[in-house]
Amino acid sequence: MKRVLITGAAGFLGSHLCDRFIAEGFQVVGMDNLITGDLKNIEHLFAKEEFEFYHHDVSKFIHVSGELDYILHFASPASPIDYLKIPIQTLKVGSLGIHNCLGLAMAKGARLIIASTSEVYGDPQVHPQTEEYWGHVNPVGPRGVYDEAKRFQEAMTMAYHTYHGLETRIVRIFNTYGPRMRLNDGRVLPAFIGQALRGEDLTVFGDGSQTRSFCYVDDLVEGIYRLLMSDYAGPVNIGNPDEITIGEFAEEIIKLTGTDQKVIYKDLPKDDPTQRRPDITKAKELLGWEPKVSRSEGLKITYEYFKSLPTEELYKKEHKDFKDYIRQKQ
Ligand code: UDP
Repeated sequence: MKRVLITGAAGFLGSHLCDRFIAEGFQVVGMDNLITGDLKNIEHLFAKEEFEFYHHDVSKFIHVSGELDYILHFASPASPIDYLKIPIQTLKVGSLGIHNCLGLAMAKGARLIIASTSEVYGDPQVHPQTEEYWGHVNPVGPRGVYDEAKRFQEAMTMAYHTYHGLETRIVRIFNTYGPRMRLNDGRVLPAFIGQALRGEDLTVFGDGSQTRSFCYVDDLVEGIYRLLMSDYAGPVNIGNPDEITIGEFAEEIIKLTGTDQKVIYKDLPKDDPTQRRPDITKAKELLGWEPKVSRSEGLKITYEYFKSLPTEELYKKEHKDFKDYIRQKQ
């Protein structure tokens, strides 16, 4: 049986990856410090023999006994609110964390894949974004802690590949959504759905003309799985090229939820990218991958998930932070 370590296992993407690798017959070692992850996302796995969990911060030395065939480094705060709240940890998990994972991969002879991001392109001046584009990032702006951590992570991973011959893969993940996102993590989709469920107006930042391209989580996981099993070491975009403005997106959520609330406008956060859409030619050619789930299908599933959560989730303490964050923008 092959054995895989997944860092950030209790997070949104990490937990879906745990499910996928268990379904593929792997032994899965999940690791998470539970700062932004939630054990609820993986509690259904604890009874399984194929699953073990280490409560550990990957910025500190990582010890895993036994063999490992693959390492997926997915630990990191991933929403702008999170990395504003914990900027140093965000930098550490992308730098010290990847160094520890790479050392572990060397020691175990494991293949490693890192979760990189469309944020390496910053506020892009090339559209759609191809892997060849070097990006337009403000290193000292509020998003710099995330963007530069991920850029460093790519550089470090490529250096281990080039100088140590380690087998590595780099996935550049574009906006992804689905069940197990945190309702109050501040990202646009849970923010809008949460607001609709609480009977609040939907807060569009800026004039709503900025664009994003949203990928359903199952499509993303399929792309990551294929990339890991491929023999390509360069960065590969995985995302859904179906681009939409945030203003239009708010209207879609209003229709989906049937809320009679309206859209209200708030200041655009500093350095908020004006446009984002992946060029997925590489993923299509190298992996035979493209997204299958349309936004309307994916949104329906995700809305059902958020509706099924206990009502107190809507009003959890985290929500207070979220309100404070919105208030700062007024
Ligand atoms: N956004 C918004 N209202 C919100 C939360 C986010 O209009 O309540 C906007 C945000 O300014 C950005 C887009 O939605 O332009 C996507 O934001 P998100 O935080 O989901 O991800 P990003 O792609 O910016 O990392």
